[in-house]
Amino acid sequence: MAAGLTTKSDSEELVSINPADGSVVAAVRATQAREIDAVVERAWSAYRRSGWAQLRPDRKAGVMHEVARRLIAEKERLAILQMRDNGKPLAECRGMVDAAAGAFRYYAGVIETHETEVTPPRGDYVSFTVLEPFGVVAAITPWNSPIMNEAQKVAPALAAGNAVILKPSEETPLLAPELARICLEAGLPEDQLQIVQGTGEESGAALVAHPGVRMISFTGGTDTGRAIARAAGGRLIPTALELGGKSPHVVFADADLEHAIAAVASGIFGSSGQSCVAGSRLFVEESVYRQVVEGVAERAQKARVAAPDDPAVEVGPLASFRHRDKVLQHVREGLRQGGNVLAGGAAPGGDIYAQGAYYQPTVIEGLGPDARLCQEEIFGPVLVVLPFRDEADVIAQANGTSMGLACGIWTESFKRAWRIGRALEAGSVWINTYKQSSISSPFGGFKDSGIGREKGVDGLRLYAQVKSMYFGLHTQPFSIGK
Ligand code: NDP
Repeated sequence: MAAGLTTKSDSEELVSINPADGSVVAAVRATQAREIDAVVERAWSAYRRSGWAQLRPDRKAGVMHEVARRLIAEKERLAILQMRDNGKPLAECRGMVDAAAGAFRYYAGVIETHETEVTPPRGDYVSFTVLEPFGVVAAITPWNSPIMNEAQKVAPALAAGNAVILKPSEETPLLAPELARICLEAGLPEDQLQIVQGTGEESGAALVAHPGVRMISFTGGTDTGRAIARAAGGRLIPTALELGGKSPHVVFADADLEHAIAAVASGIFGSSGQSCVAGSRLFVEESVYRQVVEGVAERAQKARVAAPDDPAVEVGPLASFRHRDKVLQHVREGLRQGGNVLAGGAAPGGDIYAQGAYYQPTVIEGLGPDARLCQEEIFGPVLVVLPFRDEADVIAQANGTSMGLACGIWTESFKRAWRIGRALEAGSVWINTYKQSSISSPFGGFKDSGIGREKGVDGLRLYAQVKSMYFGLHTQPFSIGK
């Protein structure tokens, strides 16, 4: 298929294209903006009538455990569907289904055990807090890790008692309806979780603007996040924004260089670099610069670029032809600014790649920290490398972007790891490891990488409003001021 993609169709259909070979996977009906009213109305009706919000936490948890069980029971089929929908290697897609099930299990545990506070009184009363749902919440997700991203929003939002309207990316429309079906089969009331398909500009924007939506949870690009925050600000509704990254990976001379090189390569080339936390800028201390950069470039050259169902695949295709072409363009522009390619730098040649949206793992040096390739998120398997002199130099360089999602630090000195880890502007810091992720650790960005923290116990509170309640204990008639 030509530089195609999941088509934004002229009529009412979205077509999912397998980026490994350009074949059509399936088509889904796009929700039209004029239909959003009815979707929101059904969500409110479910919220008010289904009894889900009032259900005992242990019973809610029971349904959520059943969702997790069913996700695992269908793991292979869902993983294959996701692999075809966005081209991720099958092993990673299996991991995404595990993570989705893990999110439902975790928030089942949180809702059963979560406690609110009794607050210190200043009068003749007992005061405490309770959590109330918002009512109808919109969740909007990108194309890179559909079922995982979607479950990480839907599970806590449902656990908090809301009705949820989920809009997946038009590029990857196939997993969200599966999640909704599984939730329904597991016992979630009808319409408590609904799916809106379609383009961001049409159905996404209509959802964000709808007065019946009381909270928005968004994961995606920074520009879209800004547009959503503007719309939500006008309506004074809260948003949780998980946005892009340009994460620095920092290697000091005293590090275990073999481990560091392996982690740097997998931190950027895993998922073909289509990960918000991809370590896309590598900073290496001058004395070991050549050794580390050559080690990473060698790994890039040797990485197996292959179809996502090849058991030995290390780097699969990008999620769409349109996106692959954007990556190509980015790199070409970077090279015009003086970059020097140490590995990759183009789509791979040869028959097996001709039909797919592939791009070679790429390592580029020789650019200044302000070059576009060092500043903008590429969301592909492209690493820029820069040397640094000392701690102050690397802190200034690594913090020198508008993003602040994550970072990696390699050093054997725990004191230095602490200093650098505290100084870097990032929501997640990995020391002598990279891209570790746990549903129980809060996740989110500094600066333009977002607002709010998903996951963890506070991930439940994101989807709830705190209410303070006072019970009077007066033995005398109440009078203000006494
Ligand atoms: P986009 O911002 O383009 O899209 C994300 C979602 O928003 C899609 O469902 C999209 O729909 C929808 N959308 C687009 N425009 C609007 C609008 N005006 N109103 C409402 N919804 C809209 O991001 P991508 O899909 O390209 O995803 C890649 C980005 O996501 C990267 O920047 C990446 O860093 C970020 N990301 C962040 C993560 C994090 O946790 N911080 C995790 C994963 C990805 P449609 O696709 O149909 O246009």
